Amino acid sequence: MMLFINLLAVVLGLAFGSFVNVIVFRARVPKANLISPSCCLSCGARISARDNVPIISWLLLKGKCRSCGAPISVVYPAVEAITAVLFVAFVNWPSPLGASRNETECASGILVTLALWWLACAGVALAAIDLRDFRLPNRLVFSLYAAAAGSFLAASLFQGDFGAMLRGLLGAGISLLIYGAIVLIAPSGMGVGDLKLSGALGLYLGWFGWGALFLGLLFAFALGALFGLGLLLFKKAKVRSTIAFGPWMILGACLAILFGNSIWEAYLLVLQRAVI
Ligand SMILES: [Zn+2]
Repeated sequence: MMLFINLLAVVLGLAFGSFVNVIVFRARVPKANLISPSCCLSCGARISARDNVPIISWLLLKGKCRSCGAPISVVYPAVEAITAVLFVAFVNWPSPLGASRNETECASGILVTLALWWLACAGVALAAIDLRDFRLPNRLVFSLYAAAAGSFLAASLFQGDFGAMLRGLLGAGISLLIYGAIVLIAPSGMGVGDLKLSGALGLYLGWFGWGALFLGLLFAFALGALFGLGLLLFKKAKVRSTIAFGPWMILGACLAILFGNSIWEAYLLVLQRAVI
């Protein structure tokens, strides 16, 4: 069963990864049709179905357009690969679907997985757009609130247990307070887009536990600081240049959802032993 679920996650992850590429590309053209066929950016040739298979087509074409030979950015297969890796990770670590003991657990497990898969899609899209344009489109950020609130509420109703939902709402509130304070104190370092995103990620993190919430916030700041330092060291940025923070918030949240609670429990255990 788990093998089937993993295979499904790979195929859906790659397919949705292609869709993420379309979202990222069209984020600059607001009225563009999401399902119109993709074209080569250099020669305008329509990309045929056989050349539109995620990752494989890019490898077979050696990263070049079939009609004009213009290079196709490695970002496209990378986005597809990252989305697929997240799809697979999310069915294995936070709430293993295969371990459900009854229909109720299975149903809420599916709902939570759908919310996480949407986090993978919207998260990868937001990270790519933020790195390129230094902005986080409202529509994508609000889609995360909607996906998390809808799925988690339905899962809570199924299980008749609203503890995780309440923790999620508190997580959103705590994140909004922390990021709101930062935006007020240092408006140049953090944008309103980051503030809006923090609430959605807090909702996700809180649902999975206090450990996930705490580490998700911590990871975001640690990764963002490392990235900023790296840019400074390699002279790619100056002290005052804009650094996209969204990607680190999203990566931090994904890592914390996957491993946060286990790391937190291990830490508490070590602490307990140290005291005794
Ligand atoms: Zn071309």
